[in-house]
Amino acid sequence: MIEFCSLASGSNGNCYYIGNETDAVLVDGGISNRRFVERTESAGVDRSKIRAIFVSHEHFDHIQGVKVIAKHLGVPVYFTYATYNEIPKRRRPSDVRFFDGNIAVEISPSITVRPFKKHHDAIDPCSFVISISGHNVGVITDIGVADQECQQMFSLCDAVFLEMNYDPMMLQYGSYPQYLKTRIDSENGHLSNYQAVELLNEHASPQLTHIIASHISAENNSQTMVLDMLHPFDERYTIELAPRFAAGRRFAK
Ligand SMILES: [Zn+2]
Ligand SMILES: [Zn+2]
Repeated sequence: MIEFCSLASGSNGNCYYIGNETDAVLVDGGISNRRFVERTESAGVDRSKIRAIFVSHEHFDHIQGVKVIAKHLGVPVYFTYATYNEIPKRRRPSDVRFFDGNIAVEISPSITVRPFKKHHDAIDPCSFVISISGHNVGVITDIGVADQECQQMFSLCDAVFLEMNYDPMMLQYGSYPQYLKTRIDSENGHLSNYQAVELLNEHASPQLTHIIASHISAENNSQTMVLDMLHPFDERYTIELAPRFAAGRRFAK
């Protein structure tokens, strides 16, 4: 049995839980410890199983609570060396481990975290596929363009937290300043609804069962648009939108 759950998703904070009967990992710690505790409880997630936190990149919505969350859990936090150096000193956890962006890290006999480098406007951004009890769960957010490696890692997933950040028209005609629009839309920005659907159409594994649309913009997207885009996949997959300010559904498979 594996279980996975979004505890926060979007520009206000990101934190994703992936575990089995005995062990679990978190990807990112972008919420306060208080919220983290509340949300693990509302989702029915067992914090005592968490063995490590992996940080994808230094943006505030991914690291803001990581030091305090790790301290309360008593677990190490994994960074690339470059990402760690970008984190403000007062936000750095005390128990730190380093990973290389391309080398898998074994956390327990049943959990291996597979990082891969991605396109995003951070110093050394990585995403992860968590290999756990015979399953592969991807956390694929904050990506400007899904390059070949990203496509290949995505194609391993049988469950995925997949970024659907923005609708290009809403972004273009929305209220963001031009420099932000350019950034989001660039190769080092975020995945649009269309880019995510393209990944699904072209690179989804026959084993894929769960899609959790993640890091959805509050300004440049809407739940209705995301659901419309995913509608053709309704029959094939279990689909959920990761909430910004609450834990999402805890899935088990
Ligand atoms: Zn982010
Ligand atoms: Zn980011």
